[in-house]
Amino acid sequence: MTDTDQTASGLARETALLLEGLGASLKAGDAIVVRSPIDGSVLARLAEAGADETTAAIGRADAAFRDWRRVPAPKRGELVRLLGEELRIHKAALGRLVSLEVGKITSEGLGEVQEMIDICDFAVGLSRQLYGLTIATERPNHRMMETWHPIGVVGVISAFNFPVAVWSWNAALAFVCGNSVVWKPSEKTPLTALAVAAIFERAVARFRAEGGTAPDGLLEVVVGGRASGEALVDDPRVPLVSATGSTVMGRAVGPRLAKRFARAILELGGNNAAIVCPSADLDLTLRGVAFAAMGTAGQRCTTLRRLFVHYSVYDRLVPRLKKAYGSVKIGNPLEVGTLVGPLIDERAFTAMQAALAAATKAGGTVTGGARATVAGCEGGFYVAPALVEMPEQCGPVVEETFAPILYVMRYSDFDEVIRLHNAVPQGLSSSIFTTDMREAERFVSAEGSDCGIANVNIGPSGAEIGGAFGGEKETGGGREAGSDSWKAYMRRTTNTVNYGTTLPLAQGVVFDV
Ligand code: NAD
Repeated sequence: MTDTDQTASGLARETALLLEGLGASLKAGDAIVVRSPIDGSVLARLAEAGADETTAAIGRADAAFRDWRRVPAPKRGELVRLLGEELRIHKAALGRLVSLEVGKITSEGLGEVQEMIDICDFAVGLSRQLYGLTIATERPNHRMMETWHPIGVVGVISAFNFPVAVWSWNAALAFVCGNSVVWKPSEKTPLTALAVAAIFERAVARFRAEGGTAPDGLLEVVVGGRASGEALVDDPRVPLVSATGSTVMGRAVGPRLAKRFARAILELGGNNAAIVCPSADLDLTLRGVAFAAMGTAGQRCTTLRRLFVHYSVYDRLVPRLKKAYGSVKIGNPLEVGTLVGPLIDERAFTAMQAALAAATKAGGTVTGGARATVAGCEGGFYVAPALVEMPEQCGPVVEETFAPILYVMRYSDFDEVIRLHNAVPQGLSSSIFTTDMREAERFVSAEGSDCGIANVNIGPSGAEIGGAFGGEKETGGGREAGSDSWKAYMRRTTNTVNYGTTLPLAQGVVFDV
């Protein structure tokens, strides 16, 4: 046993106990080694599902769908209500597992589970509101309406950084819409997924005890990497795949789905910006920027990565921001007071260092960014969040580096800063800090931010489940969670019903036989 393994054994033991307590079943193997980013220790070694097992799981989910679609939607909502209850009961354990497996600070691990509970509540209400329109028809004694039907097996591919919440945004809606789900979590975070599967099974057992009909196979979890992801993407029995991850992944998955005319919800990388205007409330801005840029160690898809500050307030804001960067507590995410935990792995650290080197080469001045040593967690990759003052938007600034790097730039003209704001390939989240109503309204107008999320006086990071979540351009264009995102998980039919005794044709066409 190496030194790292020894430090690790405490976390591994705790993980095993939590999984056992939740009743999660693990298939041991050598293919997938799950490490805690907290200290790099091994938490578990699992077998990989691979393409054949994924195909078999799809078969079970497809059979489940055929039964589940017959269950009335409000009854399906009852299962999701019970899932929300079970998540409430197991919030502490699951939140802790998220922290152990992903390295999120305690409040963020718990917050992720709260988000799952919130979407369950939303979906329960939705289960009585899956309605279509009745449309005026040009033909007498006819009625035209649209109805929404379950679509089938929904494939969910998720990223490491929201290992369980992203599943729930998709699954809670998919279940009330009458679908089954095959979930391929990130190979970096299969343990939390297996824990969620066990929690879901508890909800199913309660649902059945109440007399509900829930087929086996409603949720299938396939632990694996690219091969199982591809098997899910290519299977004709999966009409919809919701895939969250890097733009590289989206570029591989999107065309494969398009080839077989399957639906895609792509939730890919972001390169989110904020604009700080001359009238901004700088105290509020400071807090908003600090959380959005450093929270989750810069590993949120909505993390703030580009900051445009008006030259008139630059010297009042940026020195204060640097001070916040210097004082933020970096460390073991399980300890009270820690605000910045570890990066997911060494690869993320290397990518961060490469981006900082490129920024320096492009004329940037870097504050922070070095590896931080955390006692007892020497195998983890901790970094001081980096603030980089850039002369212009160039080089690594136009790319997403999944680490806490904030590029800060001066601006003087509002039209120009909007142009720069939109001049990146990604289009997920954005915000403006201003008390000038005209600037705020222009930012959220058609000529303003081109992102899926545009905020005023709050940072771009984090979202509530009530709104539709997703972004434009290379972020993929998908929408999940609230508003009318549910429509993507159902198929719409238009029905015309003739309750008369004649057969008038539309557009006055005559066809007498
Ligand atoms: P990743 O792209 O490495 O992996 C994401 C998932 O895709 C994993 O489950 C992986 O196994 C799978 N995958 C990879 N290649 C595949 C392929 N060819 N076919 C099928 N499946 C494949 O991403 P990551 O490192 O886990 O997560 C970080 C990225 O996710 C960042 O770019 C971040 O911005 C993005 N993200 C986006 C959102 C959003 O809602 N827009 C949310 C969270 C994370």
